[in-house]
Amino acid sequence: MFERILAFLFNRYCFFCGKVLGLKESKLCIKCYNKIESFRGVVTCKKCGRPLHSMYPLNLDYTCGICRNKRLPYSELYVYGPYAGKLRDLLIALKFRNQFWVSQVISDLLIKDERFANFISGADLLLPVPLHSRRLDSRGFNQVYLFTKEFKKRLSLSIPISKWDVLRVKETEFQKSLSLRRRILNLRKAFMINNISAIQGKKIILIDDILTTGATVMSVSKLLRKSGAKEIKVVIIAR
Ligand SMILES: [Zn+2]
Ligand SMILES: [Zn+2]
Repeated sequence: MFERILAFLFNRYCFFCGKVLGLKESKLCIKCYNKIESFRGVVTCKKCGRPLHSMYPLNLDYTCGICRNKRLPYSELYVYGPYAGKLRDLLIALKFRNQFWVSQVISDLLIKDERFANFISGADLLLPVPLHSRRLDSRGFNQVYLFTKEFKKRLSLSIPISKWDVLRVKETEFQKSLSLRRRILNLRKAFMINNISAIQGKKIILIDDILTTGATVMSVSKLLRKSGAKEIKVVIIAR
């Protein structure tokens, strides 16, 4: 009864199923929360994040057949889960519907994934993929920066978050409709280093929300490498 009154007064209903939330629940009911898609407990390709199945049982370098012989500018890639279902809906709600509470849910999911803390340990800099200033103005926020700030706080990390060390200087509006080749061409010179001392000799965690072709993280990592970064690892929420 008490929950129902609270729900009515403070709009405490599950974002997904509309159920009245329990006292310990916030925004999502536990049932929906537990249904958020993930790759926890799954071995994923360390270059592209694709889940590896028993097809590669003896492949100790943890790469899929497609990536095995690829030389990439980053050393490893972590992906939380598939771009599907509730995980996809959450990312869309954060990016396009101003549902800022989602950044807390994402940070919570990352922290509970035993792979994550290991992955980022020893890093010198957290670098959310920057938005172009015009995009930042129209959206009002960088969604990747929001959840990065959140997990940094929750894990009490002392690593700085980079905001202006790398800039996006070219707008790349219609990436989605382009082929991979066009995307890579389109991203050429899209990013620029603004503060090289923040990059040189540093172990950098590059963070993005969604990985489609990987053209964006490739392009930023290449630039970081060229600018003297010691190591680059990539964190992606969904692919
Ligand atoms: Zn629910
Ligand atoms: Zn792969």
